[in-house]
Amino acid sequence: MPLTGVARQGRWVLNLHEYQAKEILARYGVPVPPGKVAYTPEEAKRIAEEFGKRVVIKAQVHVGGRGKAGGVKLADTPQEAYEKAQAILGMNIKGLTVKKVLVAEAVDIAKEYYAGLILDRAKKRVVLMLSKEGGVDIEEVAAERPEAIHKFWIDPHKGFRPFEAREMVKRAGLEGNLNKLAQVLVALYRAYEGVDAFIAEINPLVVTTDGQIVAADAKIVLDDNALFRHPDLAELREIEAEHPLEVEASNYGFAYVKLDGNIGIIGNGAGLVMYTLDLVNRVGGRPANFLDIGGGAKADVVYNALKLVLKDPDVKGVFINIFGGITRADEVAKGVIRALEEGLLTKPVVMRVAGTAEEEAKKLLEGKPIYMYPTSIEAAKAIVAMVGGAA
Ligand code: GDP
Ligand code: MG
Repeated sequence: MPLTGVARQGRWVLNLHEYQAKEILARYGVPVPPGKVAYTPEEAKRIAEEFGKRVVIKAQVHVGGRGKAGGVKLADTPQEAYEKAQAILGMNIKGLTVKKVLVAEAVDIAKEYYAGLILDRAKKRVVLMLSKEGGVDIEEVAAERPEAIHKFWIDPHKGFRPFEAREMVKRAGLEGNLNKLAQVLVALYRAYEGVDAFIAEINPLVVTTDGQIVAADAKIVLDDNALFRHPDLAELREIEAEHPLEVEASNYGFAYVKLDGNIGIIGNGAGLVMYTLDLVNRVGGRPANFLDIGGGAKADVVYNALKLVLKDPDVKGVFINIFGGITRADEVAKGVIRALEEGLLTKPVVMRVAGTAEEEAKKLLEGKPIYMYPTSIEAAKAIVAMVGGAA
């Protein structure tokens, strides 16, 4: 779902793999198909033999849309499980290499529903989203027909009560055993609360051909701030499963989130960076990342930030937006100039600097091949014009 904003992974949240999410959900009473993790095709074959029925082989990487990317395949025999696992292991899905697969008993699907819980910060409540149009196209459903996704904001004091769950199931038009469906939703909420999740999602929530209800796919994102209450869950973090640029960024101490556009964004302060992302979007561009260099950054920090952003092959141009306060604009300029002198700036760079040491910065950058703009909006329009707008 396109609802997670910037808190996707990295420093603020902890993404779990599907098999880990399913283990948690099962603990709270959500029915999930039996499954085991395999690191090699041989292991996948052995697990398929053990189950003795049709299995589904699923890439365990921290991205959505694995099905469409070829990372989810059915296998009728153990030999086929071997072959499908071989095809999926090592596959690159959206920049991440598949190192393990979940081998799960396949379910016979009659209906695919969507059920998701996320914290709605504006309403200060957890919102349940429920749709009878679940499955791999849920993002299009959300974008094109938001009315097909029914919402219910849960009262934190009263919790999520079974009668409310039954009403939601009816309102969303789900078919199947009403009580069982409602029980699954209540269990999903208990799991969400129990592990201090930020997102908990079942997609698809399957009604099988024989009327069973099972979570065929699950996603849980934990809230970093609550991890101290769950030392067992904190151990689930796998650095290598995160985006390589995000790992590198966290080594530098940057708040960096990889996004899917082509304009690299660097700013000081989370608010300014968020504003810059919005602005670029508004003028028809697509940001490639969120990067906050923080307050008081010196030249080397700016240099490292530029180096990092330009390592992203998606980046076609960079927008540096600095409001000098504790951060001195001339320090920023020095970092940019160092990157320039080292030949790193192979893509257009636009800048807007204002505030502390603004004049010094402008003087330093005079005559340099950096595009300076007096306002954020002009800089945003310029970089979008240079790299091309949204596809
Ligand atoms: P995602 O693409 O990353 O969300 O991966 P999913 O686990 O949701 O799988 C994508 C799609 O594959 C689902 O929507 C189903 O249509 C299909 N699929 C997944 N598991 C099974 C299964 O056990 N049996 C069948 N028949 N289809 C499945
Ligand atoms: Mg799914």
